[in-house]
Amino acid sequence: MCDWEEFQFICGHNASRLLSYCHFARVDPYHQCFGVKVIKATHMQDVACDTCKKEMDDAAKAAALQMNFADNKQMKDAESQQMGFRDYKHRLEVEKEEKEHPQKHKQGHASGSKHH
Ligand SMILES: [Zn+2]
Ligand SMILES: [Zn+2]
Repeated sequence: MCDWEEFQFICGHNASRLLSYCHFARVDPYHQCFGVKVIKATHMQDVACDTCKKEMDDAAKAAALQMNFADNKQMKDAESQQMGFRDYKHRLEVEKEEKEHPQKHKQGHASGSKHH
């Protein structure tokens, strides 16, 4: 029966910290105690436990990320609009080139045949 102190968190969880091993735990190579925990003191905490704190942090981070994501999406939309414009410009250029290319080819061919 080891001595523990307990922390009671506002989230309803509690954590205990070992104060001192009992004789059985002390002589056990793994300090295992097969008796019941003796809670010597209970400390009321006005915070959430580490797990919940982390969860809350993660939730806050996720919310922030989601907001970032929304921002990114808006940026992506603007970007894609720009991309669309760029694509359109590119397509125009390609079309222009396609129009010019056979002409060039014909011209080359014509001048080539002229040469012969
Ligand atoms: Zn013990
Ligand atoms: Zn908790």
